[in-house]
Amino acid sequence: MNRKYRKTLIAGNWKMNKTPSETKAFMTELKAMLPKGRWCDIALCVPAVCIPAAVRAMRETRVGIGAENCNANPSGAYTGEISTAMLTDAGCKYVILGHSERRAMGETDEEINAKVKAVLEAGLVPIVCCGETLEQRESGITEEWITMQIKLALAGIPEEKSRKIVIAYEPIWAIGTGKTATPEQAEEVCQLIRVVVRKLFGSKNARATTILYGGSMNEKNAYELLAQPDIDGGLIGGASLVPAKFVKIIEDANQPTA
Ligand code: PEP
Repeated sequence: MNRKYRKTLIAGNWKMNKTPSETKAFMTELKAMLPKGRWCDIALCVPAVCIPAAVRAMRETRVGIGAENCNANPSGAYTGEISTAMLTDAGCKYVILGHSERRAMGETDEEINAKVKAVLEAGLVPIVCCGETLEQRESGITEEWITMQIKLALAGIPEEKSRKIVIAYEPIWAIGTGKTATPEQAEEVCQLIRVVVRKLFGSKNARATTILYGGSMNEKNAYELLAQPDIDGGLIGGASLVPAKFVKIIEDANQPTA
């Protein structure tokens, strides 16, 4: 991380876990444990039905609530979908986009790009995910794959909006598997992402872009991952469901900057 040039962000992704009642209980417990220092931004991206309970519980805190997806259209006949205006009105600040679990359900790069534009237009912060499969890594195409995902997700974004975008590198082989990328592997790809961002938006914007690592980050491995110069935080699944583990990761983000 490099707190001189960019924000550190510790973000949770609850996926399809916890009910609204469980959300309230979790937030009460988390609130009591939150460190007083403000060395990083904190986000919790929760299932859509849990957003009101999460926003209500965290109103007086510095924890920003986020969604796990949205629809790029402003309104209309899209049964079951949720617009950015709905998320903004509900008090959201962040939206995860292009998570590999959603890509596996058929979400395309074009749809992700449209969502990034809609989220920025609404004044929300997109957390744009990218990542390679184990097969892609083993066949040596990680660099090409990640470069392509980032270019497609960020196509047509005006330079002045680029700094609001958070990018999360999430190797698919490390998500929910307990198999974390080594700090060196994660740093190598996060550094590459910053080069891609530099080519798209210039060096000042690239230096200011927050890039997260996600994939079995937990209270045991977070410190070392966060110590890497181009890893500005974490997108955390499983460990964000337990207040003590999530708080430990927040504390691990309190380290001297390069
Ligand atoms: C995720 O879902 O974004 C994730 C990184 O999950 P986990 O931490 O459980 O691997």
